[in-house]
Amino acid sequence: MGKALIIGAGGVASVAVHKCVQNSEVFEEICIASRTKSKCDDLKAKLDGGKTKITTAQVDADNVEELIALINEVKPDIVMNLALPYQDLTIMDACLATKTHYMDTANYEPEDTAKFEYKWQWEYKERFEKAGITALLGSGFDPGVTSVFSAYALKHYFDEIEYIDILDCNGGDHGYPFATNFNPEINIREVSANGRYWENGEWIETEPMEIKREYNFAEVGQKDMYLLYHEELESLAKNITGIKRIRFFMTFGQSYITHLKALENVGMTSIEPIEFEGKQIIPLQFLKAILPDPASLGPRTVGKTNIGCIFKGKKDGKDKTYYVYNVCDHQECYKEVGSQAVSYTTGVPAMIGAAMIMTGKWNKPGVYNIEEFNPDPFMEELNKWGLPWVEDFNPVLVDALPEEKKDAELVR
Ligand code: NDP
Repeated sequence: MGKALIIGAGGVASVAVHKCVQNSEVFEEICIASRTKSKCDDLKAKLDGGKTKITTAQVDADNVEELIALINEVKPDIVMNLALPYQDLTIMDACLATKTHYMDTANYEPEDTAKFEYKWQWEYKERFEKAGITALLGSGFDPGVTSVFSAYALKHYFDEIEYIDILDCNGGDHGYPFATNFNPEINIREVSANGRYWENGEWIETEPMEIKREYNFAEVGQKDMYLLYHEELESLAKNITGIKRIRFFMTFGQSYITHLKALENVGMTSIEPIEFEGKQIIPLQFLKAILPDPASLGPRTVGKTNIGCIFKGKKDGKDKTYYVYNVCDHQECYKEVGSQAVSYTTGVPAMIGAAMIMTGKWNKPGVYNIEEFNPDPFMEELNKWGLPWVEDFNPVLVDALPEEKKDAELVR
């Protein structure tokens, strides 16, 4: 069918490359390009010999000219941006210059401020429309699958959705006192930021980890979870019309929180540069360098993830609730592609999103968040490529606490 240029060779890219090779009917050829070419070559060495032709290249994705030269040489149908959020705009610029489709899994972030905003990328909409190319934003799990779940719920089960709770549970254990499951810099920026959710047309801000709930997750069990801001809230609040409240919760164990607090208190999670031995360094980047590489967690992580959305709304004038989620087993992922479930649950939808565009199932020039496309073919592919989903039409709601706990817990 076609050719993809994959930028990045980290945890998520590694899974996406495995999945593209499994889906060789669509991905006849891939080029893996990243800052460190040896990582691309290692992936090629592991997967060469199948039906998908694999090439590799070195590229600095902060450099638009280098990207344009590479795209002109490879001539891909799509660029899959699986590098870091800092590279989104340079890669979009290069796609515009070469009229090539674009996809990513995370919104653009300036290096010096953590914003989690789509505005920079949404500003490209008209230029992509005019160029006749598509930018698919947020084709990971969250954002990504959770957004597709929302579009699917609205299309099939509701006249209007009033409430969405996105629940991201990682019941995995890697045996380290502290490590992050994906890029530590991005992960720590996300959880140390203030919490925020959308209610009645406005954003309500909270302290970091201020709102806590417990939830009993299928196949994982009872976990503490905390309200965070997460980027899909911004686009879902805009695209799911009529929504009254949308929140995002992620589970964290006590050990993670204790370590994070200590690191924060001593300034190690700061993104303000400091001078150290005559050199400017960013504490959070230094911390990243000493923490375990997320890619090394694969063999030692056991347990499951459970990520999904609970919807509450109306159908034919009646109240309705619906929960759709995926459960993924860390060890099974490792056996299949050599990575744990957090990279797996992002890499699989990245491949599927790219395939939707390459096969023409999603064909809309402009810049779109993933929930703006027809969810049905994507939902089918999730079942096919390793992320089957489960539906529950009578779920326990997040705020359904026993009466005696209600007063204490619901006051934030
Ligand atoms: P990693 O840090 O493991 O990998 C990032 C890769 O990008 C590395 O190969 C790195 O190269 C490469 N890279 C970084 N800067 C450049 C550059 N300037 N030029 C070329 N290559 C570069 O990250 P992950 O794989 O964990 O995450 C990838 C993306 O997925 C991130 O944007 C993350 O936010 C997103 N994500 C999305 C999720 C979702 O559900 N939507 C969940 C998890 C992650 P090098 O090897 O040289 O460092």
